[in-house]
Parts: sequence; structure tokens; C-alpha cells
Amino acid sequence: MPDSVRRMLLDSTSVVICTHIRPDGDAIGSQLALAHFLEAQGITVHCINTDAAAPNLTWMPGAGALQTFDGSLAQRQLIDAADVIAIVDTNKLSRIGEVHTAVEASQAQRVLIDHHLEPEPGFDATFSRDTASSTGELIYEFIAGHDASVIDEAIATNLYVAIMTDTGSFRYSSVTPRVHDIIADLLRRGDLSPEPIHSAIYDTRTFAGLRLLSRSLDTLRVRYDGFVSYMLITRQMLDAAEASTDDAEGFVNYPLSMRGVQAALLFTETAKGVKISFRSKGDVAVNGWAKAFGGGGHRNASGVFIEGGLDDVVDAVLSAAPTHLDLPAGATAEATAPDEAPDPDLTADDEAYLSTLLNLQSDSPQ
Ligand code: 5GP
Ligand code: MN
Repeated sequence: MPDSVRRMLLDSTSVVICTHIRPDGDAIGSQLALAHFLEAQGITVHCINTDAAAPNLTWMPGAGALQTFDGSLAQRQLIDAADVIAIVDTNKLSRIGEVHTAVEASQAQRVLIDHHLEPEPGFDATFSRDTASSTGELIYEFIAGHDASVIDEAIATNLYVAIMTDTGSFRYSSVTPRVHDIIADLLRRGDLSPEPIHSAIYDTRTFAGLRLLSRSLDTLRVRYDGFVSYMLITRQMLDAAEASTDDAEGFVNYPLSMRGVQAALLFTETAKGVKISFRSKGDVAVNGWAKAFGGGGHRNASGVFIEGGLDDVVDAVLSAAPTHLDLPAGATAEATAPDEAPDPDLTADDEAYLSTLLNLQSDSPQ
């Protein structure tokens, strides 16, 4: 970690920490862990975000103190009075949303801690490493480099969530032996058990959310000979399922999980335009594809919001695939539905199995 970042944070008396809009586990976990650590150093900390944390993150230690930016004088004064404003888990000041107006109006020094590609210049100090699995990994490095003994249950839990959520539960290519060493250290120092944390984050689907998933899966299509797959969430589906876009967290992993698929997209229709999530496997990069439409992100996980109607946006984005992906030679842009359901005729093996089941049933006591 650069000395400038360390000094700027540790020499301050009052810090405001902000993270990106629609904050995810890495955003909130990094923010809260940094807040706990700085508070333990006697520094006053306020965490102010444009958007509230999703319901599955509100249990995280310290989340009760997160403030949602409301444009009030009181919050603007907190931001003005800070010596340092730390921006975590985004490479661009504008990605923090509405609160950026107050941040830009403040005389405080600005520090960036992040792991996205191409950090925006203009911060007073920057700690950016795009090979890091998560911002949580960078916050761990900062804290452990200063005094690892302050890592308590609260810091460990927040950093565990940050790293777990940004690595797809420790499966992405960003996961290194070092990431597992950090996790081992967090488990020991925080005396954590991973199962309840995992469950609190992921086993939180609502009935409405699963209804939405079922409708969305019906729209699954593949293109370019199965190299690309995509799925839709329309406004009509959201209404019919009585679900919200928060319920769709992680849906993009379904088209990506298809055999042979290297890049997957989820198109979510909104009143003003279409939000697109891009995901890819291994060496296939999708950030350039998202960037071409004004978005950005990581090599294997990017996003963008495009104004326009759903059909036009889907067409425009999918037709651009050959410019941004190394598609198999001769791949056609043609859309296909996934393989038809298997033939309903039963094979001889199926018949035999079915009759054993029926026999068992008739043998069973009434
Ligand atoms: P998600 O698909 O989960 O919304 O976003 C995946 C990643 O893409 C995020 O972690 C973020 O880095 C990036 N991303 C998503 N939406 C946008 C956007 O509108 N603009 C930019 N620059 N990046 C985005
Ligand atoms: Mn992140």
C-alpha cells in the first residue's frame, strides 16, 4: 500500500467513507471494515452512500451506522468537516452517485482504494490494484500491515463478506493462495464460522424473486454457436412476479453456468432504459464490450446502463459481440433457444425404473 494513502488516513481526525451506487458485499464490507479500523485508531468516521445496502447485507457488523445520502445540510457539513474522504470499491468518483456533489464541494483530501481497471486520476492518494480479488483484500493489507491484532470479529466478518462476494465464493480467477491465506487469518482472528455468513448472504431469495427467476429463465437464449448466452428481465415480468430488481442479484450466473458458454448477459428493462450485466469465464474479457457502450467493470464482470427500448438494446449489444470477443470461426449471430426438453417417450430403462417405483408404492402399508 502506498505510504501516501496510509499516512493520509492515519494522520486524519475525521474521515468520511463513500462507496458506489447499489453497493455490493465488497463495497459495504470494505467500507465497514475500514470504518471499524479507523475508529479503533481514535479517528471519527462517517459512512455515507447514495444507496442503502441490499437487505442481505444489513446484518453486517456496523451496518446500522451507514447513512444514506439525503442531500441534507447535516450530511453536507459532515462531508465538509472531514479531513479525508475515502472512496472504496470504484474507480470513478461519479460512480458514488448523488453524494459526489457534496464530496466535490468539500475541501477534504480524497483517497481512492479500489481494484477496478483504470482508476480515475485526480485523487490526492490512490491505492489501486486491478489484480486484487476485491477491495476487501486491499483493506486487509492496509489493516494487517499496520496492526493485525486489531482484526476482531467485526472487521473479520466484513472482510470475509467482501472477499467472498467478489470472488463468487472463492472461485474466480482472481483467487490466489494469498487470498486463501487472508481468509484463514480472518477466520482465526475473528473466530468465524463461514457457513452462517454464506447463508446470511446467499440463502435470502424471496418467493417473488424465485418466481421472477422462473420467468426470466424462460427467456434464455444462446448466440454465436453457444459462445454467448443471455436472459431478459422485463418490467412486465417484475410486475407479474411482484419482484424488484434487487431480487435479481446473481441471476446472470444462470446463463453463464451453461455448458460451453463463455460470456453471458442479463438485460433488465427499466422505465428509462436497460441495465446490462456482463459476465465471462476465464480468459474471455467482457469489460471492453461494456465500455464500448459507456459502462465498465472488471474483465469477467462488467455492467452498463443504456437508454432505449429493450429490443433495440439487446440487438445493438449482441451484434457488437464479434468486435469485442474472440468468437469461434464461423460462429453465427443467430439466436437459438437451448436444446428442446428431452423426448417424453420413456426408454426401456425408464420404464423399468418407473415400475419399481409403482411396485414400491403398492407394497407400502396403507
Ligand atoms: P453488475 O452486473 O453486478 O451490476 O456489475 C458488475 C460490475 O460491473 C460492477 O462491479 C461494476 O464494476 C461494473 N459496472 C456495473 N454497472 C456499471 C456502469 O453502469 N458503469 C460502469 N463504469 N461500471 C459498471
Ligand atoms: Mn469490488
